[in-house]
Amino acid sequence: MKDEGLGTKVNLVDSHAHLDFPTSPRIAGLRGASVDNLDDVLVRAREAGVRKIITVGTTLEESKKAIEIAENLSDKKLQIYASVGIHPKDGKGDVEKFGLLSCFETLKQIVGSSDKVVAIGECGLDYYLGSRGQGLGTSKKERWFQRELFDGQIKLAADVDLPLITHCRNAWGEIFGLIENLKFKTENLKGVFHSWTGNWEAAKKALDLGFYISFSGIVTFKNATDIVEVSKKAPMKRILIETDSPFLAPEPYRGGKNEPKNVRIIAQFLADLRGLPFDKIAEATTENANRLFKF
Ligand SMILES: [Zn+2]
Repeated sequence: MKDEGLGTKVNLVDSHAHLDFPTSPRIAGLRGASVDNLDDVLVRAREAGVRKIITVGTTLEESKKAIEIAENLSDKKLQIYASVGIHPKDGKGDVEKFGLLSCFETLKQIVGSSDKVVAIGECGLDYYLGSRGQGLGTSKKERWFQRELFDGQIKLAADVDLPLITHCRNAWGEIFGLIENLKFKTENLKGVFHSWTGNWEAAKKALDLGFYISFSGIVTFKNATDIVEVSKKAPMKRILIETDSPFLAPEPYRGGKNEPKNVRIIAQFLADLRGLPFDKIAEATTENANRLFKF
């Protein structure tokens, strides 16, 4: 299938990418990472029918960079938006340097600095168990720190009335607890669990909280049974798609560098799983993203 032509009819939203990747130190170790140029990445995204991308910050610096990219590289065919936030792992340096309260204040200033900002995040809890599940890196102190950092950003999202882009790894019970706590106080809070990895039980809870569920390349991986189940059962009105570029390249590119054009692969994969035409998934996920992010 050639990209030319198709891209003129297709209308996809990549709801989560890190477009600063050609210059980000985080890309080290991904196959094919160095031979890149953001303009080329965006040309390929346009050709694949991607019309909107949210580029997501994970630190204060990256959040500013996300706004810069959104302001400078959008055009008629492809609009780029920014999400600003502090990631539970990547943003640790910011908190150590400036302290929690000052980080929240700075985030709020960054949010107010541009109307390209459509969400808060990515933020959340990441209790990574290590590549073989050996349970590294989530001491009591670390968990406390991550919860405080997330809690402040839930409050910020409710305060500025923007949706939350949430990252969760092995922390479902706690993350729902923190969100629920605040939901009692505000009806404003909306959001998405990005790059979904939980089972159907967790998904039901996320949906009950009014959140959307976003599928990344992980749904195409061989061992993704739980995620596949969720992707079939989740209501069409509540699903989004994303690449999480440059990470999580879908099959058959697993392990390599990812980019927004591949959001089409995720849409096709979901369409096949649900026995629907590609267009139905494209249409639903784009409408959902437009509704949630109000763009
Ligand atoms: Zn991400």
